[in-house]
Amino acid sequence: MIAIDGPAGAGKSTLAKRLAKELGYIYLDTGAMYRALAWKAIVEGVDPGDEGELKRILPLTRIELIECDGEPRVLLDGEDVTSRIRTPQVSQMASRISTFKTVRDRMVELQRAMGSRGGVVAEGRDIGTVVFPGADVKIYLDASPEERARRRFVELKGLGKQVTLEETLAEMNERDRRDQERAVAPLRKAEDALVIDSSSLSAEAVVERVMRVIKSTMPAIQ
Ligand code: C5P
Repeated sequence: MIAIDGPAGAGKSTLAKRLAKELGYIYLDTGAMYRALAWKAIVEGVDPGDEGELKRILPLTRIELIECDGEPRVLLDGEDVTSRIRTPQVSQMASRISTFKTVRDRMVELQRAMGSRGGVVAEGRDIGTVVFPGADVKIYLDASPEERARRRFVELKGLGKQVTLEETLAEMNERDRRDQERAVAPLRKAEDALVIDSSSLSAEAVVERVMRVIKSTMPAIQ
């Protein structure tokens, strides 16, 4: 089990996907699960502050992470919502609803079930601290706010979204603050996590560094 945490835009997804490929592990994108629920809440007009309403829809919600033609896909109640959940609106909604314990408890339950047999690279905000505290390797991936906003901006542009760099930075800062300040499972580095600042590192360099750590920590992997 490899746990990767860190703020938005630090490069967690790129790193986690590449590690999963390299190791033949399953890629577990926990943010996509909060995003899928957020999308459902938006579609159903749920007030993001209404924990009772979120509690009501949770047992009626099926979230699945699958792989299709080598690409991770997110299914919400059987429907592919992969591209719909990558918008600033869904990011904000996900960050709001993920402050609630009811929501987190359910997501953590699903995530632990998916990781029960090991062989998983999981990324999120609370993986090393809450979801898989016994992970073999824990990475806390960070980068400067400017660099993280720039990367997120390029990603959103690539998806054809109409956003400015300033909006992206503001949205990201607001979300990071909420993720760090929430009472339940806030974003923080696990005590035994290795911190990597990816601001001036290429994706390849980060993967190489983490692979070295994995090989030195997990004798079965060489
Ligand atoms: O990682 P991603 O940006 O897709 O996550 C979207 C939001 O979901 C985060 O801003 C955070 O509020 C929430 N999240 C979380 N715990 C996780 C993963 C994501 O609270 N393990």
